[in-house]
Amino acid sequence: MDRGIYEFREYYKSKFPYYNIRAQQKKMMEIIFNSVNNKKNLVVEAPTGVGKTLSYLIPSLYFAEKGKRVIILTETIDQQERIFEDLNSLKHNLKVSFMMGKGNFFCKSKGDKANRLYCQLNKKCPYRPNKKPYCSICGAKKEPITIDGITKYFCPFCVCDYQKSKIECLNADIVVMNNSIYYYIKEEIDAKRNTDIIICDEAHKLEGSIRNAATISINPEIALNRLRFMAYYFAPNTLRKYFKRLDDEYKYDDKNNYNNHAYFNDKYNEDFWNHRETKIEDFWKIIHNYVSNYANIEDCKNTLIFDGEHITSWKLKEDVAILGTLLDGYYQILNIKKKIESLEENKELNKKDLKFKIDNKALVPLEFQFICNKKITDMPLMEFIDNIKNLKTTNSNFVIYRNRSSLLCEPVLVSSYLKKLYGGAVVIHCSATIGNLKVHALKTGMGASNTLVLDSPFSEHRKKIIALSDGEDMKYDGRKELKRKKANENIFKLLKSAKCNSLVLFKSFEDLNSAYKYLINNSNKLNQKIYCYESGMDGKDAKELKERFERNGGILLATGRFAEGVDIPGDALTMVIIDSLPFPVPTPLLNREQKLLEEGLKKKNVNNKNAHWMAFLMTSFHIMSRTIVQMIGRLIRAEDDYGVVVVQDKRFNDWVAEEMKKRGYLKDNYISMNINKAVEYIPKFLNEFKSEK
Ligand code: SF4
Repeated sequence: MDRGIYEFREYYKSKFPYYNIRAQQKKMMEIIFNSVNNKKNLVVEAPTGVGKTLSYLIPSLYFAEKGKRVIILTETIDQQERIFEDLNSLKHNLKVSFMMGKGNFFCKSKGDKANRLYCQLNKKCPYRPNKKPYCSICGAKKEPITIDGITKYFCPFCVCDYQKSKIECLNADIVVMNNSIYYYIKEEIDAKRNTDIIICDEAHKLEGSIRNAATISINPEIALNRLRFMAYYFAPNTLRKYFKRLDDEYKYDDKNNYNNHAYFNDKYNEDFWNHRETKIEDFWKIIHNYVSNYANIEDCKNTLIFDGEHITSWKLKEDVAILGTLLDGYYQILNIKKKIESLEENKELNKKDLKFKIDNKALVPLEFQFICNKKITDMPLMEFIDNIKNLKTTNSNFVIYRNRSSLLCEPVLVSSYLKKLYGGAVVIHCSATIGNLKVHALKTGMGASNTLVLDSPFSEHRKKIIALSDGEDMKYDGRKELKRKKANENIFKLLKSAKCNSLVLFKSFEDLNSAYKYLINNSNKLNQKIYCYESGMDGKDAKELKERFERNGGILLATGRFAEGVDIPGDALTMVIIDSLPFPVPTPLLNREQKLLEEGLKKKNVNNKNAHWMAFLMTSFHIMSRTIVQMIGRLIRAEDDYGVVVVQDKRFNDWVAEEMKKRGYLKDNYISMNINKAVEYIPKFLNEFKSEK
């Protein structure tokens, strides 16, 4: 054993802000200490309630005080806030810096949320470090910052928060940041000091967030919408009159049910979309007629000059040059849209068949000027053009397919990206739901790592997981309606017998809506308020819904979104029903990943059948199992919580639960029973704890 452990033990005892240090916390702190000293990566699964944040923050402080640089990665702002609070409870003199995604910073130049592409383009922004030693805004003497031998100056009074955070990160001993921003600015952050230790909290989300960051999404519809808004904005008043007339003409059809807001709403029927297309074509026809009176449309884009701030035309009337440029962009992007729409959906495509090009350099400066003038955040047109270029640079690790009106180009394996991000640092991953630690380490590029699984601090007898032995098998096989009917009946029986505050989790909105209708038709027998998570609700709506349910009690029907990050303590939630096992829908990405793994296993002499099965376990089964564990985890969030989780889907009882236990995903025990037994057992079990109060 490392002799330094004794010193470290004294350190954590003196640092710990509470009198009692849990055995799990000691274990976690000490294994982090040993892993860092032995330069070995580590994966820790620490269930809710263990106190994992303090257990990695204290070793972080210890090593940072010894001169090592630590980066703590998280996924959510909530967790960053928790880290902030916990760090404040620990006395230290270290430089700690927090870095959130750009969207969380205010961009002084634009007067709105910061945006990566806008900032990248706005090189002359006076709020960022530059080579001028005096501030052009307030006149103050600026402070120097030297990176890679180049000295720049920033004004401590005027520098924007985003740039300020980046500067602070350069020198900080501990940097707390979000996974995707680290992906984008790792090199900048490490420019002055190398990172020695990377701790990734909520590590089960790392693979997904890095894949999202590296994914190229080409959505012509969004780019065309932006073009249209821009054309409307830059058009002279004479044209706006025509646009208005066009609006009035299409606003009311014979059914009198279309309106302006409906342009971007998916809910409308095919008629609406055909109508909308016609309207858009007419909109661009008006512009075409206007521009062609003065110039050749193709030529307009070559007459615009951008000086880094403003755009002007050296040859034509400005509005003609701008509208002609936008119209040219419209024709080019429309062609791309038609090409994408002609491709088969959800099928892997060959990059060679996807040769897209945008020959119009003035579109990006125009969008830049548009968002500066309008003070809005995003740059979808620039993103679209960038992505068209990026598509060419992708390698064979990417899978390309059409998803509705977009083209998606996703990296299959993200371990190579992650290895690059880790550099030479010791990497520590922790989360409440890692599942199979070896599979996680493999998929996240950690290589051979130490592992630690901590026990839950909550008593197991307060929770029961019930696998329905006669539940409905929700595997898709063409008998969907029949299966749905039986599943709805089971859910109804469970809710009726338990009469407690319950969360029912569905795989899809279609399933949720079917169950909702069934329960509403029988609501007189339930006598409980039913809340419903609806398609299109954003994070804020979901939070409000959860709070209403928590305050008033009843039954909450939700989809997988509520499987994570929803804490409903005590009596406010005592039953969770999982309607169907959340196996992911096969996509070309998933198919390719499975195929790659299968081939790799065969090369290691695993026979065909086993290779197929193992590849399935490492992909679909891995994703499903982690989601199920998160769903189960909704129930017990504090020491005196209690309740039951019922898995309605029969496959859980038949083979999934056992396999999950065998593969290390399910740590709790479960009991099998049929629906009749379950409706007797659940109220009795819940009553035991109700009487405690
Ligand atoms: S540097 Fe300028 S453009 Fe970038 S976020 Fe700051 S204020 Fe905005």
